[in-house]
Amino acid sequence: MAKFQKAILPINDMVITCGYKHPEYTRWFQRTYRSAGVVHFGSDFVDRQRKDTQLRAPFDMEIVYAGLDYLMGYTVIARSLLPIDIHYGKHKGRKHIAIRIAHMSRLNVKRGQKVKWGTTLGNYGGTGKYGGAPHAHIELDADVSFPNYSPSFRGNSTIWKGGTDSTINPMDVFKVARGQTFSYERRNQSFLDQDDIYTLRHDGRSTAANFIRV
Ligand SMILES: [Zn+2]
Repeated sequence: MAKFQKAILPINDMVITCGYKHPEYTRWFQRTYRSAGVVHFGSDFVDRQRKDTQLRAPFDMEIVYAGLDYLMGYTVIARSLLPIDIHYGKHKGRKHIAIRIAHMSRLNVKRGQKVKWGTTLGNYGGTGKYGGAPHAHIELDADVSFPNYSPSFRGNSTIWKGGTDSTINPMDVFKVARGQTFSYERRNQSFLDQDDIYTLRHDGRSTAANFIRV
């Protein structure tokens, strides 16, 4: 059987604050930036205590881009070194995937570097024109040939370029590893769907011990 990996959470006590393709995000974006609404092709996360902002590699990866993007801030874009287990959704199965992380405050890795899962990639923050309050915006993509092309864009930015939609709901991929917790907060509930919150359960990895309602 081919080797593959299961992805861990990139934040140890991870809280999801905005879900994948959530319609409320599009309305919020229109209000905030007074521009046409954009679809949320990723998910937003923070640390439960708002203290440990370290972002860890969820799987073994090669860093394809690490730098400052005008709109998306300090960015890490990488592709997996092994097929990754996708436990739910239309991409269910095992395939190579790309990851895009936006709005980081600090980068700990360089372009071309290969890192093991668990390696600190940097810290989440609020950099870039669309940064806002500190959080990690993470997109996963089945297209590994053009990992910096995102459907979030119509035009191009410094690193991020406009692409077509081959994104994957991050919560169809991330799993709660030993010692990690996953949660959501009541105040963010309007930005979340059931799948954003409960998809981990399809895999049986989320238990009463590691799934926390705050
Ligand atoms: Zn986001």
